[in-house]
Amino acid sequence: MKKILNPTFLMLMVISFGCAQKQNNTAVKVTKSEDQWKAELSEQSYRILRKGETERPFTGEYDKHFEDGVYRCAGCNQKLFMSENKYDSKCGWPAFDNAVKGSLKFDVDYKIGIPRTEVLCSNCGGHLGHVFNDGPKETTGLRHCINSAALEFEPKENE
Ligand code: FE
Repeated sequence: MKKILNPTFLMLMVISFGCAQKQNNTAVKVTKSEDQWKAELSEQSYRILRKGETERPFTGEYDKHFEDGVYRCAGCNQKLFMSENKYDSKCGWPAFDNAVKGSLKFDVDYKIGIPRTEVLCSNCGGHLGHVFNDGPKETTGLRHCINSAALEFEPKENE
């Protein structure tokens, strides 16, 4: 009888199925039309979250904000960062050395000519900012440099 499935073919099937699964796991769960996003978000949040723009440094609501609580995505409300991971990087934007597990997605961004790692919300795909390797050495060494207008702060007592 003719052999249809050889071991190499089976192995490739398993690998490609695994890749497809992985892609599905990273797909965003919240999808809306551009009109819906425009209607729901402030103009600035829309430009940042949906168009990948950046707020001017030292102007954001949470740049110098150090209360206890949680920072959620302004687009979909997913928990992104905890106040204990926020630190004063003096870069002009809110900075976090770590994020809530699974809350972020990453992409490569060539907007300024050099590759940077773009940070996106894993739930709605909204652009949040970028992550750099110049964060606090005593913790993660990472600086998640995030636009205030992409975030919504929730004080600890309301959590
Ligand atoms: Fe989101």
